[in-house]
Amino acid sequence: MSVSRLFVEADLAAGIEVPLGEAQVHYLRHVMRRPDGAALRLFNGRDGEWQATFAGRGKKAAVAEVGACTRVQAPEPDVWLCFAPVKRARIDYIAEKATELGASALQPVLTRHTAVERVNVDRLRANAIEAAEQTERLSVPEVRPPIDLARLIAGWPDDRRLLICDESGGGPPIAEALAGLDVAARAAPWAILVGPEGGFAEAELSALRRIRDVMAIGLGPRILRADTAALAALACWQALVGDWRQPTPRLSADYRTSKAAV
Ligand code: SAH
Repeated sequence: MSVSRLFVEADLAAGIEVPLGEAQVHYLRHVMRRPDGAALRLFNGRDGEWQATFAGRGKKAAVAEVGACTRVQAPEPDVWLCFAPVKRARIDYIAEKATELGASALQPVLTRHTAVERVNVDRLRANAIEAAEQTERLSVPEVRPPIDLARLIAGWPDDRRLLICDESGGGPPIAEALAGLDVAARAAPWAILVGPEGGFAEAELSALRRIRDVMAIGLGPRILRADTAALAALACWQALVGDWRQPTPRLSADYRTSKAAV
C-alpha cells in the first residue's frame, strides 16, 4: 500500500500523537481508504519527515502516532516567486507548479496592468500544501496576500537578488545572466518577478531598477503567458543556481512504490 504524506503544523517528535484535521481524516479514510494502522509520513517544514501510524479516535476524529524520523530537515534554496495574479485556474496552476519547482514563497504583486485584483490566498495555500505533500518537499512555500508593486519595492530586503522577467528585451538571456555566479551569489536569497498579461509599465520597470541587486532577463524570442514565464524562469533558476545543480537524492524504496501506486 502506498504511503500518504501529510503536512502538519504541529512539532514532530518520536512517540507523540498529532491530531489530524477533519479534512485530513476524511481524505485518508474515505478517499484513500486507509485503515487504522496505515503507514503515514508527516512533515511540518521544521523537523524533517517522520514515520507515523493512522489511528482512529472515535467516528470522525483520528491522530497520527509518530514513530521514527525518516528524513532530517535539509536547507532549501530561498527563491521567492513574485507574480502578477492571473485568472483562477492559472493561478492555481502557478501555486502547484511553483511548489514542485521549489519556490520558498509565492508573492502575488498588483501592478498597473494587473487584470485580477482579488486572490484567494487560502485556496492557493491549500494548493501549495497538496503539491508539497505530493512532490515530497520537506517544506511548504509561504503564500502571501497580494501587495502593490510600489510597496514591494519600498520594502525590498537589501540582501535579496531580483530577476525581472522582461519581455521587452531589456536584459540578457536568463542563462547568460545566471552563468558564472560566485558561491556567495548562489547562496544569496533570490526572487523572480513576472509581470501581468499587459506587461510592466515603463515607470514600473524604472522603479524596479532602483533595487540594488536587480537583473532584467529574457526568456527567449516568444511572448510567454505569465504563468509560463513564471515556471520557465523558476526552472532555469533551479538548474543554474538552485538545487537542480545537485545530483537527485535517491528517495527511499517505499517512495518509489508510493509514486508507482498513486
Ligand atoms: N507585454 C506582453 C505580454 C506580457 S507576458 C505583450 O505585450 O504581449 C506576461 C509576463 O511574462 C511579462 O510581463 C514578463 O514578465 C513575462 N514574459 C513573457 N514573455 C517573456 C520573455 N520572452 N522574456 C522575459 N519575460 C517574459
